[in-house]
Amino acid sequence: MSNTKYIFVTGGVTSSLGKGIVAASLAKLLQSQDFSVTIQKFDPYINVDPGTLNPYEHGECFVTDDGAETDLDLGHYERFLNVNTSQANNVTTGRVYQSVIEKERRGEFLGKTVQVIPHITNEIKERMSLLGESNKFDIVITEIGGTVGDIESLPYIESVRQMIWDLGRENAIVIHLTLIPFLAAAGELKTKPTQHSVKTLMESGISADIIVCRTEHELSEELRQKLALFCNVKREAIIQSIDVDTIYDVPLKMLEEGLDKVVLNKLQLQPKKTLDLTRWNEFLYKFKNPKHSLKIGLVGKYVELQDSYKSILESLIHAGAINETEIQVISIHSEKLNDKNVATKLNTLDGVIVAPGFGERGIEGKITAIAYARKHQIPFFGICLGMQMAVIEYSRNTAGLSSANSIEMDENCKTPVIDLMESQKSVVNKGGTMRLGAWDCSLLENSLAHKAYGSKTISERHRHRYEFNDAFKERIFDQDFVVTGTNPETGLVEIIEYKKHPWFLGVQFHPEYKSTVSTPHPLFVSFIQASLTNKS
Ligand code: GLN
Repeated sequence: MSNTKYIFVTGGVTSSLGKGIVAASLAKLLQSQDFSVTIQKFDPYINVDPGTLNPYEHGECFVTDDGAETDLDLGHYERFLNVNTSQANNVTTGRVYQSVIEKERRGEFLGKTVQVIPHITNEIKERMSLLGESNKFDIVITEIGGTVGDIESLPYIESVRQMIWDLGRENAIVIHLTLIPFLAAAGELKTKPTQHSVKTLMESGISADIIVCRTEHELSEELRQKLALFCNVKREAIIQSIDVDTIYDVPLKMLEEGLDKVVLNKLQLQPKKTLDLTRWNEFLYKFKNPKHSLKIGLVGKYVELQDSYKSILESLIHAGAINETEIQVISIHSEKLNDKNVATKLNTLDGVIVAPGFGERGIEGKITAIAYARKHQIPFFGICLGMQMAVIEYSRNTAGLSSANSIEMDENCKTPVIDLMESQKSVVNKGGTMRLGAWDCSLLENSLAHKAYGSKTISERHRHRYEFNDAFKERIFDQDFVVTGTNPETGLVEIIEYKKHPWFLGVQFHPEYKSTVSTPHPLFVSFIQASLTNKS
């Protein structure tokens, strides 16, 4: 068995307490003391992955280099740690059952009744140990989605109990995240829900080692003592997680509370070096003390829910901070945008992003926004569907192809400038079948993209079924509208630029998945710089 130590993060009282952020913050503190850390998330729903979920249901789907469609928390892990995650970092109940059922069909359990315990729990435990057994990590943090006490969480909680039993308490600990509600009428913070949720955890045979308390108000010493006594943990293991303005403050708050110290102590580890958060603090300083400000429009159809475009919003924060610029994101609903209101909605903006998406709803609004940005020289950044719509806009309004469209939007389209990829034509299943993950792209010398990246070959993550239709290459591209990035093997169009413009660029891939605090994405950085120039 490897020497890897395990930290399990469970949640109680309510969902949406920010387990992922607390896990990522703890990982950051440990990483800053030279531990190699990874985080994995176990989600108790039956979808095999979140790729088939509508963003309204579960927020954005985050894509890894190895082409896994995963939970958006993996985005936080990567952005905080600057370390890539993979398929192994996100497991769902659907995937667990699928694997167990496949094993059953192959006869791997021949003669036995296949049951939740031990077969499902064994499968979960195997997956919980997988990254740890690679010997690449000192510490593996495992976040269990959902809330303790939920029916669907039970096999995971039981697996955690068994893991602790197998590994010993000095090698595996549990952090339980709860809410301390404030009752305005009584003017009081209440500990009872936390006591109950710790008790629920105990009913499953797990005593929490550390309680992280999400709260809107400071916890008094008295309240901390009370929580410690009733939740059966030491006083220093009561960690306050107070609401903050930005998620990027959470590591510092956790540091103030000594979360890393309690964790290392429980796991019987010594820091490998003195904690160093210099770069993190530099980022935070620039983020909080901007010298400039910008209004960036984000045109999409899922704008009601901030989580739908999580990685884009975070990429703007990273690129804004490095440019000492505060970014005010103006959400624009693509369905509500038309020729009549486009000027009022867009003319005060310093830059426009047209978001990724699927299906017909809202696409004419996206095209209208692109036409306006192109004509009025507003920096424009089209991502995935946003790039496809930029091609359609140019085809219709400049290249004389008035009926240009994507086959995705109109199956019988006579001018399908965006077509279903050849490799997709035989695809029947929806789950995990898009063109996914990292693919290389060669850049055209002296293009905007080439200048931004400073290199000729790049690798970016993808998630699409449709592509530019090469049959229209000659009729659409000219000296102004150019292809500046292509797949080196297939020639697939990856980046387009419009040259009679300060900054007009569309990408078939998703740059937002690769922006991190320490490495803001070059295209976002360049887009923000262009928007600053546009403003001045
Ligand atoms: N719907 C488009 C496609 O499948 C774009 C996908 C996206 O924006 N991620 O190609």
